Amino acid sequence: MPQEKVAAKGLVERIGIEGSRIKHTKTDSDTTVKDANIPNHKVALKYVVDLLLDGDAGVMKSLSELGAAGHRVVHGGEKFASSVVIDDDVIQAIDECVPLAPLHNPANLTGIKAMKELLPDLPQVAVFDTAFHQTMPQKAYMYGLPYRYYTTYKGRRYGFHGTSHYYVAHRTAELMGKPIEELKIVTCHLGNGSSITAVNGGVSVDTSLGFGTVPGIIMGTRSGDVDPTLLLHIMEQEGMSPAEMSHVLHKESGFWGLSGISSDLRDIEEAMEKGNERATLVMEMLVYGIAKFVGAYAAAMKGLDAVAFTAGIGENSPIVREKVCEYLSFLGLRFDRAKNEALIRGKEGYISIKDSPVKALVVPTNEELVIARDTFELIDNR
Ligand code: AMP
Repeated sequence: MPQEKVAAKGLVERIGIEGSRIKHTKTDSDTTVKDANIPNHKVALKYVVDLLLDGDAGVMKSLSELGAAGHRVVHGGEKFASSVVIDDDVIQAIDECVPLAPLHNPANLTGIKAMKELLPDLPQVAVFDTAFHQTMPQKAYMYGLPYRYYTTYKGRRYGFHGTSHYYVAHRTAELMGKPIEELKIVTCHLGNGSSITAVNGGVSVDTSLGFGTVPGIIMGTRSGDVDPTLLLHIMEQEGMSPAEMSHVLHKESGFWGLSGISSDLRDIEEAMEKGNERATLVMEMLVYGIAKFVGAYAAAMKGLDAVAFTAGIGENSPIVREKVCEYLSFLGLRFDRAKNEALIRGKEGYISIKDSPVKALVVPTNEELVIARDTFELIDNR
């Protein structure tokens, strides 16, 4: 930074499940892929640091070459509406938000603390997934519960993946060659966790995740929207505690719970091809859910100019995109099958035909770039 030149990039996949591995790419050489037993995020970060320092694959001679570390942090509650330099108070505030994002904030803290152990003097910055959605109007972020639960517990919709939705909406406007202020865009972040956001004039006006990271469409291991009275019924019938139900909602549901096969959509698609009925059900529920949200958000914004797909599934699953776009033809989305098939593994562009009144695009997310920009700006201005 500030040249925005990537020295190396990488990804640790399938942490805590079978087949975990680390991919590391130095921009001027080949990708290193290492299969390894990676039970948790601390072990994952150790592999990342080792590869950055590696004689062949690495890009640094010593860790002292690092200027700062930027972290994606999922939940900042109402405390953080923008990125911050991390100190002990910030760590404590992130820790206080753990009950709001039990799957993510502990992992984010593991990364921050492991980095602090490795390099105590390195400035660190937190970029919050909740920040972009702070523009939602009250009618979108309130729930129909007694108002006191908002004032007492800050019980409201927060939304997540904000860094990704922000990047993808802005990039979509760039690709369309129009000012974002004039566009109504629905961004579909479809990964292990998924959310769909209505971006009107460049600001988030509604989003499918909520107080926590469970609602909206079905995800890898999370349920998506469920009638809360069903949850109460199950808890009563089975004598379950809130913690036990939380585990079911976060870890045992979604693709995994419905199919009994996997939380990874690649495995679901493979099973579907072999005729597995529950895998087919997962696919049908997924695309139906996405299409319903896009339709709802077109109504919320009183119009729609573009739908953008991003993240692991959005960037790599032509079948999901095709099935969603089929539902959306009534809105004026005219789909281009050949373009759709061609856009995988980080490729960017339109999947609607040239004159389609509503555009559809694949926009590989770049949360790292947004995090790097915020980190650089905060450290530079200290
Ligand atoms: P993310 O959380 O953005 O890393 O996305 C992870 C999700 O992307 C997992 O459910 C993967 O199954 C899915 N994914 C990655 N590559 C593919 C692919 N080629 N086809 C279908 N799904 C994929």
